[in-house]
Amino acid sequence: MRNTLQSDARKLSSERAQRLQALIAQLPKIELHRHLPGSIRTQTFFDLAAEYGFKLPAHTVDDLRPYVQVMPDTPADLGHILRGLGDFQRCLFVSPTALSRLTFEMVEDAYREGIIYLEVRFSPLTMAGESLTFQEVMQGIRDGLDRARERYPVRTTLLLGLTRTANVETCARIVDLALSLAGQGDVVGVDLSGDEAASPPGVFVDLFDQIRTDGRLGITVHAGEAAGPQSVRDAVELLGAQRIGHGVRAILDSDVVQLVRERKVVLETCPISNVLTGAVPRLEDHPLAQFLRAGVAATISSDDPSWFDSTLNKEYYLALTTLGLSFEELHQAVANAARGAFLPDAERAQLSAAIDSAYHAAAPQFHQLLTPQ
Ligand SMILES: [Zn+2]
Repeated sequence: MRNTLQSDARKLSSERAQRLQALIAQLPKIELHRHLPGSIRTQTFFDLAAEYGFKLPAHTVDDLRPYVQVMPDTPADLGHILRGLGDFQRCLFVSPTALSRLTFEMVEDAYREGIIYLEVRFSPLTMAGESLTFQEVMQGIRDGLDRARERYPVRTTLLLGLTRTANVETCARIVDLALSLAGQGDVVGVDLSGDEAASPPGVFVDLFDQIRTDGRLGITVHAGEAAGPQSVRDAVELLGAQRIGHGVRAILDSDVVQLVRERKVVLETCPISNVLTGAVPRLEDHPLAQFLRAGVAATISSDDPSWFDSTLNKEYYLALTTLGLSFEELHQAVANAARGAFLPDAERAQLSAAIDSAYHAAAPQFHQLLTPQ
């Protein structure tokens, strides 16, 4: 199935659309769901290929695009995208210095999008590949974060990823690593990702019990993306997920929507990704507004901005124009993200206050632009 992002349900003149984009660019933003491997600049492939002497199948940024980005004719299939783009970029994970560069550039790009709080996730297993140890992966990424912190006022934290398709012993090693780094500032949680349709959560129950018992790390689980509402229920009830990556298919079962609302589970929806991976047929069908109106703590993230050629600015713009959110609902989604951050209470309160004051101040300008004339 091919997809389209072209639709623009709230018809704006191009002048008003530009003004809206400029206003959105000024808003402080929160990104709870961004993968490091999905946030790599295309030019960096060429720079690292020259530095480390590996070959690429193209000589220009445009020609490399089909290897590093979802294209209009790429099937809307998560497994296909993960195998294609995910596998190709492993050539970059060659040294701690290379990982430091990728991390630094990701934070720099986030700063340019107006992101003030960023939780980045990655699988130590994928980043280590055949050539690096977990320690080298962490060293490279934390070095990139340290350098970015000196330059940019973006609070950035890390989520260590477990992959559904990896064996249990490897996942146990990652849990040990995460627990050994918990409380050291930048590692704040764990994520479970990978093809949920192919691998239910059964084997992860004991590992997540260990994390919950320890209590220092947040838990987020990709669910309700490639599989149905039961996958969201399992993530909450069996794995103790406080947040769900995507969760869009929860909308298909009102009992699961109720469960998520009652337990105050945060849904990290990523509208552009959700359409391009086939989790939602079209942007107009995205359930974000429905979740918010049902009192669910839904949020907006970009998932893999370089794979999907997106930014959080573009996501917010589409939320207001195509997904049918009012400005107050956009504010609610960002406030939900502040409250869902895996940060100490005092820091979350500060983040919420910063968001509320900026969004209250911006509201009159947004109302003026979004009111039909
Ligand atoms: Zn994701």
